[in-house]
Amino acid sequence: MTQIVLSPVALVAGGAGFIGSHLCDRLIDDGYKVICIDNLYTGSLHNIEHLMSHPRFTFVNHDVTTPYDMPGLSLVFNLACPASPVHYQKDAVYTAKTAFLGTLNMLELARKNDCIMLQASTSEVYGNPLVHPQPETYWGNVNPIGIRSCYDEGKRIGETLCMDYHRQYGTKVKIVRIFNTYGPRMAEDDGRVVSNFITQALREEDITIYGDGSQTRSFQYVSDLINGFMKMVKTDDSFTGPVNLGNPEEYTVKQLAETIIKLTGSHSRIVYKPLPQDDPIKRKPNISILKNKLYIEPQINLRKGLIKTINFFMTKHSNNKQNTEQKYVGHLYC
Ligand code: NAD
Ligand code: UDP
Repeated sequence: MTQIVLSPVALVAGGAGFIGSHLCDRLIDDGYKVICIDNLYTGSLHNIEHLMSHPRFTFVNHDVTTPYDMPGLSLVFNLACPASPVHYQKDAVYTAKTAFLGTLNMLELARKNDCIMLQASTSEVYGNPLVHPQPETYWGNVNPIGIRSCYDEGKRIGETLCMDYHRQYGTKVKIVRIFNTYGPRMAEDDGRVVSNFITQALREEDITIYGDGSQTRSFQYVSDLINGFMKMVKTDDSFTGPVNLGNPEEYTVKQLAETIIKLTGSHSRIVYKPLPQDDPIKRKPNISILKNKLYIEPQINLRKGLIKTINFFMTKHSNNKQNTEQKYVGHLYC
């Protein structure tokens, strides 16, 4: 007798975004049926157009600030939230609503389905950290009334909600704190440092360093992050995290600019602009839990990840800039 094996169903809130679309790809590859819900606030259908005709993929245009009901789910991933300072500050009240109500609605969905919910939290919960590198036990140094607070405090209350659902209703929550992640499908107008610098370098425009460029970040390539997500959802039900997902290689913003100029062979000049309010001075994850509990560590170093990302941005421009592409491909691989 033939047995019909049904695919487990994963819902990805924010699945049309940069990270969400890579997660949808991975879940499809791993045999899941994927429901992607997104209101395209910062995401784009371009990121998932290759999945649209897949029999195990469904896109639903939905705003997570309103409840969503769907039975039969095995996994809920809550990634729905603008992530770049430019986008989350544009309508700060909406960002706070998305962070709070969106997380509440996704937790309620997971509770009704009695399934796992992974919460995409952030290194921003550490604010401008006074402990370096940052372990999960550090409670952070966050300004509750500044221009970044809608996001930072929004993500902190998101973690609180997750833990209260876990304690009060036994919901299987998994909190991951994502450190600066980059890769193909970042939006050109996203405003984040990697996409800004690559776009500026490819267009031979000035590279805009905010402050003196001595502030640090630790950059993680997107595939390492997705590996972390998939390991995290396979941990024991009682394990909630939080777990730092990041690459501990730490660079100054100036070093990042210089590396991108070198890899693209660009003639762009570096120019200095004012440092935005509450911009963290340094950031680097302590990844002991990632290594000792999830048994993984980052595989893609900055140079390798930047080459993949630069190639993505070049291909995007290739229709109208074919000659330029030839030149850069030469630089990237020499
Ligand atoms: P992104 O902006 O590309 O993706 C966010 C997605 O959520 C978009 O597709 C957007 O349209 C969608 N969205 C926003 N508000 C929504 C709403 N109210 N209802 C439905 N959909 C909504 O950003 P990303 O970098 O892919 O980030 C994904 C998640 O990871 C976010 O929750 C972000 O806070 C978190 N994160 C990202 C980073 C990073 O470095 N990229 C770092 C820390 C945390
Ligand atoms: N940054 C910069 N130039 C840019 C964009 C960002 O110097 O064009 C700086 C920004 O001030 C911050 C760092 O790069 O110090 C990382 O910024 P991003 O917005 O990517 O992430 P976050 O500040 O949320 O870590």
